[in-house]
Amino acid sequence: MSYARVLSVGLLGVTGHLVEVEADLAAGLPTVALSGLPDTALNEARDRVRAAIVNSGQSWPNRRITVNLLPATLPKHGSGFDVAIACALLGGSGELPLAPLDGVAILGELGLDGAVRPVRGVLPMVVAAVRAGITRVVVPLANAAEAAVVPGVRVKGVDSLHRLVAFVRDGGRLLEPPEPDPVSPPAGPDLAEVAGQGLGRRGLEIAAAGGHHVALIGPPGAGKTMLAERLPSILPPLDDEAALEVSALHSIAGLLPPGGRLLRRPPLQAPHHTATVPSLVGGGSGLARPGAVSLAHRGVLFLDEAAEFNVRALEALRQPLESGRVLITRSRGATEYPASFQLVLASNPCPCAKPSGDLACECTPLARRRYIGRLSGPLLDRIDVQVPLVPLRAADLVAAATPAEPSAVVAERVRAARSAAAQRWAGTGWRVNADVPGPHLRRTRWRLPARDTEQLRRSLDTGALSARGYDRVIRMAWTIADLDGRDRPGADDVAEASQLRSGRSA
Ligand SMILES: [Zn+2]
Repeated sequence: MSYARVLSVGLLGVTGHLVEVEADLAAGLPTVALSGLPDTALNEARDRVRAAIVNSGQSWPNRRITVNLLPATLPKHGSGFDVAIACALLGGSGELPLAPLDGVAILGELGLDGAVRPVRGVLPMVVAAVRAGITRVVVPLANAAEAAVVPGVRVKGVDSLHRLVAFVRDGGRLLEPPEPDPVSPPAGPDLAEVAGQGLGRRGLEIAAAGGHHVALIGPPGAGKTMLAERLPSILPPLDDEAALEVSALHSIAGLLPPGGRLLRRPPLQAPHHTATVPSLVGGGSGLARPGAVSLAHRGVLFLDEAAEFNVRALEALRQPLESGRVLITRSRGATEYPASFQLVLASNPCPCAKPSGDLACECTPLARRRYIGRLSGPLLDRIDVQVPLVPLRAADLVAAATPAEPSAVVAERVRAARSAAAQRWAGTGWRVNADVPGPHLRRTRWRLPARDTEQLRRSLDTGALSARGYDRVIRMAWTIADLDGRDRPGADDVAEASQLRSGRSA
């Protein structure tokens, strides 16, 4: 036999596609040609596969070899086809009877010594294989726990090409994936650790309940980071579909924690203000790595010291904020990843970052406006909840003697509020109040009675509030009503939302 075919999986964004790896061996000068849109890494596969085959004690077929990856139209990235190519070659040369690998998808990179190395993106690849009707996969041992998370598939691990050859030829044993870690991962920081900060906690709860983007503005020491890092702890845990999607993105980035579990807690990404545009939106050679915006998908993107980010980095957030997706454009084509996150930005109120009221701060009102103004345009315009934070005062510390409410209690209110909103907007495509366009709340049967919005309309008339700001207050008022179990917001809810929006504490 001089032809063989083996199955593998390629990725396009977060979606996997079955790939057929064909090898044809013909008489003629010994050469190897790869076809089917291979990228550079795939060309390097030729040398890796040759060395790995020879170093595994197999003979290299000295014939004219053509390796083809189908479908040809699908761009192929990375080194995950190595093991499949080696199998197809050995099958085509008659060295290996491939019947035991019928209907098996094979993933993995080869080292020159014949070791099978882990690859990124195994989770979404196995998901795709199962969707295509595949029930057995062979993956690098280091990826086996991750592959075994996917229901409906039998996973075997390999640590070397030699082991795979021994299995195919003599019925040798492949390796079982490790048992999932019985201990749940640590829960992460909890709101019980935040003393005082009534306004900050309330703002965070409203943001969580309505899915609103939030800005925390205050001097150093006001607890901005403490609050932001605890937002995931009061958001609903990821359901099965979301957990699979979020885990797949972390798998492609090579950042899925070991332990063989799906990520269930909404992720938090906190890029530093010196972060480059590619690290935010994604990029790199070979299989494009998801950036912070995609690793924060269905979770929280926290920009600390947001005004210090470079303008291009802030601009790069515009597309994911608008569409929930990000397109990574590179010379070899574009990759799209989901990037729908809740934005939390924190900033000092002024460039010198001295506590407000501190005599050392000599920033002029203009300098302060300019500083925060850097965030307008792409970011501040999308933020419903703005929380002014002040450093902890003595009164807070006294109050802190009574333990603060833990995240689990707040999360239960958030869950109930989200469920009320989901029922109200059922059939519209909106899940949370933050999704609902302003006009829908102003013009339809959801419009609030004039007596409840009187103060707000006066602010609109005097120019103290913009039309967008008006919509944001109303949107937040709905969330406050949902949190407090009322089916429509009243004047008090509008007043609280208005205070949060304008930054005056009650
Ligand atoms: Zn200052």
